Amino acid sequence: MMQPIFHPVLVIGGGLAGLRAAIEAKKYCDAAVLSMVYPVRSHSCAAQGGINAPLGNAPEGIDDSWEKHAYDTVKGSDFLADQDAVEILTKEAAERVYEMEHWGTPFSRTPEGRIAQRPFGGAGFPRTCYAEDTTGHALLHTINEQAIKNNIKVYSERFVLSLVVRDKKIIGVIALNRLTGKLEAYAAHSVVLATGGAGRIYAETTNSLIMSGYGISLAFRAGVALKDMEFMQFHPTSLYRTNILLTEGSRGEGAYLLNSKGERFMQRYAPVAMELAPRDIVARAIATEILEGRGVNNAYVHLDLRHLGEKKINERLPGVRELCLSFIGLDPVKELIPVQPAQHYTMGGIDCNINGETEITGLYAVGECACVSVHGANRLGGNSLLETLVFGKRVGEFAAAFALQESKKSAMDEGILDLIEQEYKKVNEKIKGKEGKEKIASIRSDLGKLMVKKVGIFRQEDQLREALDEISALSEMFEHVYVSRGTIYNLELLHAFDLEAMLALAEVIAKGALFRKESRGSHYRTDYPERDDEHFLKHTIARCTPDGVKIEYRDVVMTKFKPEKRVY
Ligand SMILES: Cc1cc2nc3c(=O)[nH]c(=O)nc-3n(C[C@H](O)[C@H](O)[C@H](O)COP(=O)(O)OP(=O)(O)OC[C@H]3O[C@@H](n4cnc5c(N)ncnc54)[C@H](O)[C@@H]3O)c2cc1C
Repeated sequence: MMQPIFHPVLVIGGGLAGLRAAIEAKKYCDAAVLSMVYPVRSHSCAAQGGINAPLGNAPEGIDDSWEKHAYDTVKGSDFLADQDAVEILTKEAAERVYEMEHWGTPFSRTPEGRIAQRPFGGAGFPRTCYAEDTTGHALLHTINEQAIKNNIKVYSERFVLSLVVRDKKIIGVIALNRLTGKLEAYAAHSVVLATGGAGRIYAETTNSLIMSGYGISLAFRAGVALKDMEFMQFHPTSLYRTNILLTEGSRGEGAYLLNSKGERFMQRYAPVAMELAPRDIVARAIATEILEGRGVNNAYVHLDLRHLGEKKINERLPGVRELCLSFIGLDPVKELIPVQPAQHYTMGGIDCNINGETEITGLYAVGECACVSVHGANRLGGNSLLETLVFGKRVGEFAAAFALQESKKSAMDEGILDLIEQEYKKVNEKIKGKEGKEKIASIRSDLGKLMVKKVGIFRQEDQLREALDEISALSEMFEHVYVSRGTIYNLELLHAFDLEAMLALAEVIAKGALFRKESRGSHYRTDYPERDDEHFLKHTIARCTPDGVKIEYRDVVMTKFKPEKRVY
């Protein structure tokens, strides 16, 4: 019988959320990380603009407070965020940012030497702390150093393919070692999913290739509900065609958005906040300009940094300048940048409570894969990095506390070893290659395009129904794909796993969008353009059943803030 590797706490994912959870858990018991890529290659590294905390360091932000941060977050979420979770996020924000500073994150500074803060969309004060425009890189490298310092064992290049569950309790996971091509079994008392978002389901996205949502689908298949998956964030300013993100920090530093007539068109959509309205509003405004014929070449609008001057651009936005120069040979000091909205963030995710606990005992979720929910229908820029740290710490603590109650013997009893062996054999069948005729790449490409077109920024009933039919047809084709044999770094095989997850999640997104007959945050129904609090001030809960995806609803947790009209 094969012997699994045992750790009391096993964290799946080496991004900010996963590493922060592991560091916390390791204070109490042994904790290890399994990750598809070496931790600093996780997607957190791509974060640009910054992390929110009401420090009050900018002169205009002196009166900032956690309550004001909480209000902005709840209003930004179009009142769908759970307010108890938002209170935790905002009350702890300053402590987590200072902790990262003390651990060595090189934050940009005010002239007095304090952590600098810039304005971001939907925020009443300059609240976003940043390290130039490569904040994720700075944070992830700092936290990885702490993981190394704390002797956290990291198993890199491991693709977790399956969760092993007995009687609604987690037992372990089965992972493919991409380097050796061999399956490995792991046993644990607590498993923390910190696997990131699902942006790659959309053809136009700022997310990197590995963001297929596989970790979210792992929980879904194991019986955990998904929450609010129809709420996908579309970032207003991705570089035209490549969809590389150009941070909201550009607009925070004063950049304008211009249509083909050279107008600052945000005047029509958010006369006070202008370019710094929340992302759902700015993305819709750009899409509307293009649809109504005021886009440049009917395809994009312009981001104008020129008036900021070379010095400010080099000091605050060097990454933006470099991206423009490298990818389209254009210098934003002198030229206008072509931008278009693109999928950016998965607001929904694995249903969990404020401690990261899911319906499966011992299984936790944190970071972008989770829906706790602090972002509701629309995330404010800068709040996601914050969520990874605040809830990473919290979930690490809860996962360790649970693991400490259990004994190692109970994690390795014979029944459990049998179950792990059975799951191992099942997964072994899945990695053998397939002889069908359909191509993974073309199904993936069709899925991505259809999600942009029919489950994108604007949605309506007939298109959502068509999308569901098309997703079902693509799923049928997926049954007949060709996958070459071999398991050592067989990218085709890995893409096949990703595609299976993407098709399952696409159905959840489209069904949630079809059933939600209102417009709220990022979910805009042209046939139901108003928010409908009477019927839909509720979380969507999607379950995987033998008869397909079933949708239920759950009340939103309210504490301080009553829903109000959302104007900026
Ligand atoms: C371009 C860009 C810029 C952004 N800028 C900002 C910003 O300025 N401010 C902000 O607040 N937010 C920003 N965000 C969002 C934010 O960066 C992410 O939401 C956050 O970093 C996610 O962290 P995470 O730890 O949850 O996941 P990730 O950093 O994505 O880590 C996921 C981890 O899971 C692992 N993994 C996944 N599946 C498996 C599997 N099956 N088996 C094993 N391992 C697996 C991966 O290897 C990886 O280590 C940005 C997002 C993008 C796309």
